[in-house]
Amino acid sequence: MTMSSILRKFRRVASLRRTLFILISISVLLVVHFHYKLFNESNSLSQYKSVQPYAQLSRQCPSIIKSSEKLKRNVLLLSIDRSRCDKIRNFIETVKYEFIQVSKFDENSLFDHDFPQFASVIFCSFQDHNEISTYQSFYAALQSYQSKHSIGKIIIANQTDERLYSIPHVTTSYTEEIGEASFLIHDSSLLRITKAHKEHFALSFHKGNFQIDVEDGVSHEKVTQLTISDQWRTGVVHVCQQKTEPETIIFGMGTELFVNQMLLLDSIYYTSKGILQKPLEKNIQIDIDDIFVGDPGTRIGVSDVDAMIEFTDKWKEQIPGFNFVVGFSGKFINRGNETEDAGDSYILEKKDHFRWFGHMFSHMKAIMFEDDESLCKYMSDNKKFGVKNQLPFETGYAVAPHHAGVYPVHEPLYHCWREVWGVKITSTEEYPHLYPATKRRGFLHQGWDSHI
Ligand SMILES: [Zn+2]
Repeated sequence: MTMSSILRKFRRVASLRRTLFILISISVLLVVHFHYKLFNESNSLSQYKSVQPYAQLSRQCPSIIKSSEKLKRNVLLLSIDRSRCDKIRNFIETVKYEFIQVSKFDENSLFDHDFPQFASVIFCSFQDHNEISTYQSFYAALQSYQSKHSIGKIIIANQTDERLYSIPHVTTSYTEEIGEASFLIHDSSLLRITKAHKEHFALSFHKGNFQIDVEDGVSHEKVTQLTISDQWRTGVVHVCQQKTEPETIIFGMGTELFVNQMLLLDSIYYTSKGILQKPLEKNIQIDIDDIFVGDPGTRIGVSDVDAMIEFTDKWKEQIPGFNFVVGFSGKFINRGNETEDAGDSYILEKKDHFRWFGHMFSHMKAIMFEDDESLCKYMSDNKKFGVKNQLPFETGYAVAPHHAGVYPVHEPLYHCWREVWGVKITSTEEYPHLYPATKRRGFLHQGWDSHI
């Protein structure tokens, strides 16, 4: 098993707080991913030395003034073609914001029995803004709503978009192929989760990108910039509030780019005047299960273990106490090829760099055991292996092979986990349904937390 295949097996579980009964925010994973990209891609900066670093820009738009208005905490998604909102809607669902998607433009949709319906407005493409702004009565009502409640708007380009020509003093242009570019995040007034990045770093772009230009004399902030043909171009711009336009944040590329996902969260916070926000404190756990499991040729070797330790050490600089949480199945140790058997010995030697949980002795599904007695014995065999090798156990946590028995609930699994391991929290990926993944939730069973 290579490091990359291990990384693909990452699963995240939510906060260990038993009362925090929500699905772990995808943003956690995204933060994880972001750090991963930064750590790994910033190493290759040397090839960008030919591009002069762009001077850091100062803030131009006002800092957020938090609203005390009682607006409904919805995000309004606007698009003529509903499918254009799919990716943005998935993201909004994943981070657990409520939303209303509108594709028929009637000003009554802005209110629910005279009560203001939303705190943030997103146009799902440039084309949508161009076209919806021609629906005069609706657009005027929307502008008036935004002005009255000080709500800004967000416009996000999609992959097959047209130029944005409906925002005063703003022009856009498109570059089909970008490949790798140097990337900067300036200290914009909308940043909250995202951090300004003073040093430019390298990012890969698999698709094109709109660049945005704002006329001189119009207050705005260049939020992100990237190098195209050795020139710095603006990828995300924040146009401060103008006389006739609410403040507008324009994304030249969709939420496929991870940085844009973080900036979208920040933009929702900023344009809703703080009504829509997520806590800044996040809990992160990354599991790697199936240690000692797998056919020869698919398992880890010494270099993989070293890579995991190196990764852990880097993350610890940013996230105190971070460790991979590894699930082991002791029965299959030393069943790989020569390289992998050396890897098995090595990870035991380096055991203290990881936190360990029992992942069943031979990776059998818990539902194959009908009664407590046989299942508890089977779990005990794995625990004996762990004790014999003095593995530092993760307290109160385990994952079942294939998640089997977590939901639908298999009572012997819960019983034996409690008896043998003292497990109080687990994870699953199948509650209430496997798909759509954006709608998964945790649940409580007999005082247990199950997170997804
Ligand atoms: Zn497994």
